Amino acid sequence: MSAPPAGATILPSPTTAMAMVLESPRRLVPRELPLPVIGDDDALLRVEACGLCGTDHEQYTGHLPSGFAFVPGHETVGIIETIGPSAARRWGVAAGDRVAVEVFQSCGNCDHCLTGTYRRCRRHGMADMYGFIPVDRPPGLWGGYSRYQYLAPDSMVLSVPDGLDPVIATLFNPLGAGIRWGVTVPGTSKGDLVAVLGPGIRGLAAVVAAKAAGASFVMVTGCGPRDGPRLRWARRFGADLTVDVAVEDPGKALAAATGRQADVVIDVTAKAPGALAQAIELARPGGTVVLAGTRGSADIPGFWPDLIVFKELRILGALGVDVTAYKAALELLAAGTHPWEELPREVVDFGHLEELLQTMAGETRRTPPIHGVLAP
Ligand SMILES: [Zn+2]
Ligand SMILES: [Zn+2]
Repeated sequence: MSAPPAGATILPSPTTAMAMVLESPRRLVPRELPLPVIGDDDALLRVEACGLCGTDHEQYTGHLPSGFAFVPGHETVGIIETIGPSAARRWGVAAGDRVAVEVFQSCGNCDHCLTGTYRRCRRHGMADMYGFIPVDRPPGLWGGYSRYQYLAPDSMVLSVPDGLDPVIATLFNPLGAGIRWGVTVPGTSKGDLVAVLGPGIRGLAAVVAAKAAGASFVMVTGCGPRDGPRLRWARRFGADLTVDVAVEDPGKALAAATGRQADVVIDVTAKAPGALAQAIELARPGGTVVLAGTRGSADIPGFWPDLIVFKELRILGALGVDVTAYKAALELLAAGTHPWEELPREVVDFGHLEELLQTMAGETRRTPPIHGVLAP
């Protein structure tokens, strides 16, 4: 390291990092947490941006059972500040690189990790997801609501392509979901007729992914006036037909437009119990239905299980994303094929984070943005 020029102020390296700790539902408080000493096989990330999704406001309101207290934030993009030599070798990155962080960790050795389903890793699994780990487990900085996030040895990081803005790069997570849920899991291919239920960011991402896979026609549904602008964005992102299910029957609308039923139905709705019956109704005999949204309830109005038998449907659950889809998402974002920058987006600092989470939960008078991001 060269000596600083004469007269320069030498700032001491920080020894703590400001983080937002969710102590209990709706109690999000700033705390200074000590920065860890980085060894041979781990790293420290300077957080540039952390995307927010439905999971974030469910954690905030307490709808998602969580082990309080913890630093939330699971859609993190940042710069590698410090990294040990072994971690650098294994992850293929160096200090100064911009990376996106996979939510799950993988031991790389158990049966699940070896067969690619590392989300069920026996050492880590769902207990060790970034943005969910208790703050009292050292070093505490386990989430993206922080200036710095700790990257443990079994982390997976993805290089962000040069020139991709970190705020846009946080879309690696929802777009990765759109690719996995909309294409990989159902096997969507050329000429397929696809129905996407739910016009949020993951719905938009599923439209983009299905079209990129060669789908000939994509319908997107929303519910009520609040989804109106989102359905217009869905058309800008390639949807051929959008339907407000509050005023129009989606099955009839699809039949009127195409004379067919859907080869693939992707349900990315959240807390919309009626969507399951719609999904089953929309699918053609022999078709595939992917359930990625959770209902938060055992009530499924209008659901008639016999239709699954009569139609011989394939019903597939999809939990989370994987690094293959994340990589494809980052490449697609860097390709600049869609107006991701123009999406209604709110980027906030720590001081405005809580209000944005409340807005995204529909608790304020403001319209929730399609894409919410924390930039610490
Ligand atoms: Zn998320
Ligand atoms: Zn494992």
